[in-house]
Amino acid sequence: MSQAALRLEILDGNVGLLIFDQPGSRANTLGQAVLAELSALVAELGKRTELTGLILRSGKPGMFIAGADLRELGGARPEPEQSRQLLQGGLATFGAFEQLPYPTVAAIEGACMGGGLELAMCFDFRLVSTHPKTELGLPETKVGLIPGWGGTQRLPRLIGPALATEMICAGETVKPARAVQIGLAFDAVPSERLQAEALRLLAWARESGAWHEVRQKKQQPVGLSEEQASFLFAVARAQVLAKTRGQFPAPLAALEAIAGGVNLPLAEGLKIESEKFLPVVAGPAARNLIAVFFMNQRLQKDPGVSNSAVQPRPIKLVGVLGAGIMGAGIAGAYIRRGIPALLLDSNPVALEKGVGAIAKVLQSRVDIGRSTAAEMVAALARLSTTTTLQAMADREVVVEAVVENEAVKVKVYQQLQEILSPDAILASNTSTISITRMARSVRRPEQFAGMHFFNPVDRMQLVEVIRGEQTSDATVATLVALAKQIGKTPIVVRDCPGFLVNRILFPYINESLTLLEEGAAPRDLDRVATGFGMPMGPITLNDLVGLDTSLYAGQVINDAFSERTTRSKILQELVAAGRLGQKSGAGFYSYGKGSRGQDDPAFEVILARCRTGERAFTADEIEERLFLPMLTEASRILMEGIVRDPSDVDMGLILGIGFPTFRGGILRWADAIGLPRVLQKLQKYEALGLRFQPTEQMRQLAAAGKGFYSA
Ligand code: NAD
Repeated sequence: MSQAALRLEILDGNVGLLIFDQPGSRANTLGQAVLAELSALVAELGKRTELTGLILRSGKPGMFIAGADLRELGGARPEPEQSRQLLQGGLATFGAFEQLPYPTVAAIEGACMGGGLELAMCFDFRLVSTHPKTELGLPETKVGLIPGWGGTQRLPRLIGPALATEMICAGETVKPARAVQIGLAFDAVPSERLQAEALRLLAWARESGAWHEVRQKKQQPVGLSEEQASFLFAVARAQVLAKTRGQFPAPLAALEAIAGGVNLPLAEGLKIESEKFLPVVAGPAARNLIAVFFMNQRLQKDPGVSNSAVQPRPIKLVGVLGAGIMGAGIAGAYIRRGIPALLLDSNPVALEKGVGAIAKVLQSRVDIGRSTAAEMVAALARLSTTTTLQAMADREVVVEAVVENEAVKVKVYQQLQEILSPDAILASNTSTISITRMARSVRRPEQFAGMHFFNPVDRMQLVEVIRGEQTSDATVATLVALAKQIGKTPIVVRDCPGFLVNRILFPYINESLTLLEEGAAPRDLDRVATGFGMPMGPITLNDLVGLDTSLYAGQVINDAFSERTTRSKILQELVAAGRLGQKSGAGFYSYGKGSRGQDDPAFEVILARCRTGERAFTADEIEERLFLPMLTEASRILMEGIVRDPSDVDMGLILGIGFPTFRGGILRWADAIGLPRVLQKLQKYEALGLRFQPTEQMRQLAAAGKGFYSA
């Protein structure tokens, strides 16, 4: 028999203490087995009339309840009846705590999320500990669900509908002080006093009878006037639509559950919530968002190498070469997460500028309340600077981010290897130069790899750890662990032109340029891409990256895969005309002061020179032309073993270029369409070239009725 997750103890004064401590797990989650235990316990507790109160707490320090067990909800395709049973079972069990014949307190320390908070809200009082990990919230909409165990009904009754709507629709969490301020928690107390204060609170509740009032209030309608309700929910709806562009159904469904239930008694409101929950859980967005959640978890746990005997080396000191856009960003990322960094640039002015850029990022985090002034000062104290390579002697890992010029880079490595200790790792941030080739110029190629950060480093979570032919497992494992240590998500990629993300991005960028030349309007291309869910269209993206950078990187990748790339003229023409994108004030669009990109007649003149046709395209055609070449390239990457798992491809695109999470990545997008249909779509464009030809892998999967994830 499996061990129980919950146990009941009886404290002095006949107070029940229910301790949640799921065996063999770092988190407490609410799955079917736990719900069954909880249901039996609450039935027993209802009969224990000798008790004078009940406290719920976790047996795990710094962790209350992480939420529902997403594995049970995110399975292949949950049966509607199964989801309904899970929902009703949870609602009944949680609701039974509200009927216990004595006052109750949830004593919360650590994450109290989703179903955990929904359960805690069925207690008369929530007392929180000031432990740094204590955080309360209903983040269900972030995984495409809505709170379905009463969250959309009880939260508005506890903290008011306006705040509750904000918290639920955005999936926001609150820290202890804020929880108290908004009335979600009764008080916040130090960790070691949590249980004693919970007992005191129960004694007070018993004496004052206050628990009867709070219970009653939760059963009642909130009582908004019609005017208040229509104003509040119309504004909230507009905000949700603006933020989700209508592509994420969950926040709207949550809003409808809140709006539908606030003015009804609780029991009626709960029925509305269930009605809104069931279609959402069965929909594709929830399935994909839950999949993204698990793909992310897989990456967090992935050591980067398959040999489990290989252990990462702990790294205490890093060096960064080049204090430009990337070098400064990379050094900033290290010092912010507690790792001392030595930043080097051969140009003292660039060094000064780099330090200024680091300070600016740190200051902006203080300004928005993400960190404190003291943390900023501590981070800056970990930064040192130099203009001489000799100063790198004690560094265990050096990340090189000097100009994108192979000769310059190789020269730096050769000088550096005379200075570094024999076991130091050298990692290049290059976007386009072969790691394997550069490794040939260093003495210890097994300690050489790529560590490819994305711009802007402080906001982009992805790091591609590039494995050259001779890079050792120990080097890969160490860089993977180091990237995680600074809060990044590393993906291990075998060396190839463009690595993972840029190699898949360029077919899409190229296709947008070809479409332009064939007659499509830039705005239409951007509109279709954002309609698909991309954060911006390919034309705007090009303007943002810089057309000179895009032209250069594109050339490297296009030359490497010349048999399947298209050659367009437009980028070259724009660069020659000095139109480099946003940074020069004009590219495909023009950027006046504060403008987000306007149509520009001067661009039209250049485009007219490059046009090869005047065709009009349907939105479907544009979508297929843009995304299918990405897909065939992604399949080639899998076939070549550039990454180890389909989820590396999907997460790389999600984290690296903002591929829409609700689609779960390019491979999940294809699986959702079904590979036989994808093959039919490709057939329409076969005449355009190899980039529209299905790979052998795709043909085989389609023939076997499988997908990338069910191979
Ligand atoms: P940058 O031009 O902003 O900075 C390069 C810095 O290197 C300059 O400050 C320069 O003074 C310094 N430098 C040049 N030669 C040097 C030498 N021999 N020794 C020491 N310092 C030297 O360039 P960046 O955009 O930060 O790019 C740096 C690297 O990162 C390149 O390899 C680039 O491909 C890669 N990268 C860039 C981006 C991006 O979006 N900018 C993204 C990912 C990777």
